[in-house]
Amino acid sequence: MQQAVVGVLVVQNRTKRHYTEEEVEALQTVAMVLAEVVAAADLIGAVPDEPDLSRQMPYHIAGTSFSESIALGHAVLHEPRVHVTKLIAEDTELELKRLEQAVYALRGSIDDMLETEDLSHAGEHREVLQAYRMFANDRGWLQRMLEAVKTGLTAEAAVERVQNDTRARLQRAADPYIRDRLHDFDDLANRLLRQLTGVTLASLSANLPNDAIIIARNMGPAELLDYDKERLRGLVLEEGAPNAHVSIVARAFGIATVGRAEDILEHVEPGDAIIVDGDTGEVYLRPSQEVIASYSEKARFRARKQEQYKAIRGEPAVTLDGEKVDLYVNAGLQVDLPHLDEAGAEGIGLFRTELQFMIASTLPSLREQIELYRAVLDEAGDKPAVFRTLDIGGDKMLPYMNLSALKEENPALGWRAIRISLDRPALLRHQIRALLTAAAGRSLRVMFPMVAEVAEYKRARALVDKELARLKKFGKECPAHLEIGTMLEVPSLAWQLDTLLPLVDFVSIGSNDLLQFLFASDRGNPRVATRYDFLSPAVLSFLRHIVVKCREYGTPLTLCGEMSGKPLEAMALAGLGLRRISMSPAAIGPVKMMVRSLDVSKLETFMDGLYGLPDRSVREQLASFAEAHGVAV
Ligand code: PEP
Ligand code: MG
Repeated sequence: MQQAVVGVLVVQNRTKRHYTEEEVEALQTVAMVLAEVVAAADLIGAVPDEPDLSRQMPYHIAGTSFSESIALGHAVLHEPRVHVTKLIAEDTELELKRLEQAVYALRGSIDDMLETEDLSHAGEHREVLQAYRMFANDRGWLQRMLEAVKTGLTAEAAVERVQNDTRARLQRAADPYIRDRLHDFDDLANRLLRQLTGVTLASLSANLPNDAIIIARNMGPAELLDYDKERLRGLVLEEGAPNAHVSIVARAFGIATVGRAEDILEHVEPGDAIIVDGDTGEVYLRPSQEVIASYSEKARFRARKQEQYKAIRGEPAVTLDGEKVDLYVNAGLQVDLPHLDEAGAEGIGLFRTELQFMIASTLPSLREQIELYRAVLDEAGDKPAVFRTLDIGGDKMLPYMNLSALKEENPALGWRAIRISLDRPALLRHQIRALLTAAAGRSLRVMFPMVAEVAEYKRARALVDKELARLKKFGKECPAHLEIGTMLEVPSLAWQLDTLLPLVDFVSIGSNDLLQFLFASDRGNPRVATRYDFLSPAVLSFLRHIVVKCREYGTPLTLCGEMSGKPLEAMALAGLGLRRISMSPAAIGPVKMMVRSLDVSKLETFMDGLYGLPDRSVREQLASFAEAHGVAV
C-alpha cells in the first residue's frame, strides 16, 4: 500500500512454535490484503486507536484571574462544536456540492471579517483571522475533504474526519507555533461544520442552563452582553486580557472569570461540570468529589468574608489615622444600579453610558437614553453619579455602526470616544440633551472620555453649553447643579494640567487606557497586557504628578480604572494621595477593609522611598509594608 504503514498485525500463540516460510508468506499476504481493504474503505482515522478519555477525566488548568469570584456550573461552548450524526452519504454528488459551497461561503465570511476589521468586536486578532484565511484557502485541505466524501461520507463527516486526522498530525508537533495553529485550524473546521449544519450561535444562547459557564477562545464585550445574565455563572477564555472590556463587563456582572486557560477547548465537553476559581485563576473540569468538597468549603469561607464586608457596609472608609477615602462604584447598565446600595458606596464614580448602546440592536432613542439616566439618578438619590459620555470605538463597537469608515491598524489609538463624538457632534449633542433632560432640577455630573488635549475638552464643553442654551430657549428645566469634568486616560493631558484644571470641575483617571498608552502595551492583547506592572515607579510617579497638580488647583480627582478595585493597588493609590477611587461593586468590601486597616501617613512616608527606585516593580515592597503593618490586602 504505497509503502505506508496502516497498522500492525500481531499473531500470537499460546505455546511456543516455529512458523514455516510458507506460513510467514501467507500471513504477509493476509496483511497486504487487509491493508488494501482498510485503505479502500478509508477506515484509518475513522476508528480511533483507543477510546479518547481526555474529555472524561478530571482536568485542571492554571490560567489567570480576570474576575474574582467562584463559580460552580456547567460548560457552554461559546462557539459550539457540531456533533455529526449522519455519516454515510445518500448522494455523493450532492455532498460534494454542499461541501464546496460551504467552503466557498466560509472563505467569503472570513474575507468579510478581515475587510470590515470588526475584529475587536469579536475579540479576535488579525493574526488569527489571517491564519483562518490561510487554512480556508488551502487547496490540500479542500482536496482531502473532497476525497473523504468520495469514499461515501457526508460532507459533515468528511470535515470531521479530516479535522481529526489533521489534529492528530499537528498535536505531535513540538513547535508551539504549529500547536497554536492547531487551534486556528480547529476553530475553522468548527465554523465549516456550523456552516454546513446551519447551527448558529444565537440559537444556542436560547438554551442556556441556569448555571452556565461560558467557554470561549476569546470574545468581545458585546458578545458577553448577549447572554442572559441571570443564567451566567462564569466565563473561561483561552486567551483574553484582564483589562480588556470583556473582562470589565464580566467583573461588572460579578461573574467568576479566568483567562489564558490554555487548551481548555481541547479538553472540555459541553455540559461538563466545571469549577471556575476567579481568585486564583484555576479551572477544574469534571472535578472530583474532593475538589467539589474543598470548593464548597471555599464558597462557605467567601460567604463568611462577604458577611464581614456586609458588617462594615454602613461604616465609613476611614484610615486608622483618620483620612477618609471615598469609594465609588463603576456601573453601566440598569442591572448594576442596586449594587450602589448593596456595596455601601459613596456614589457612582463612572457610569459607562456606552453599554446601553452596545446591547441595543439600534441606536437608543432620546427617550430611551433619558429613561436610563433618570433611573440612574433616581437610584443614586443624594449620592453623586458621574456619567461618562459615549466611549465607543477601539474594542467597543456598536453592531449598527457603519464600520467601513473604521479601517484602522491600531484601533486603540484610533477613532474612538471623544474623537468620534467631536467628529459626529449630533451623537454627543443628543446624549447631552438626554442627560440634561433627565437631570432637570437635580445635580448632574458629566465627563468626557479619551481627551488628549485641552482644546478637545473645550469643544466638548461648548456642546454642553449649546444644549443648555437650547433647553432654556424652549423653556425647559435645566439641572440645578452641573459639573463638567474629563477623564485623564491619555498621557498627553497630564502635561497640560496648568491649562486644563482651571477649566474643569473634576478629573477622573482612567488607568486602564492611561497605562496601556504609557507603556505602549495593548490592554487587550494577551501577549503584552500584563508585561508591565502597574505598581512600578514609573506609574506611581506619573500618578503622583497628577495628584499633586490637582491638589494645587483644588480640583477633585478620582481614579476609576480597574486598578482601584484591587486592595494592594488601592493601598498604593491612597499612599500616593488619592482620596477617591471608583471600582466594580464587588471590590468595595475588600478595599474598604484595606482602608480601615491602613495608617496612610506611614505609607506615604514609606512610598517616598519608592518613586525613584530603578526596579521594574515595587509590588513586593508594598506587599511587605502591608504585611508588616497588618493592612488587609
Ligand atoms: C479606563 O480606561 O481606565 C476606564 C475607566 O475606561 P474604560 O475601561 O471603559 O476604557
Ligand atoms: Mg478608558
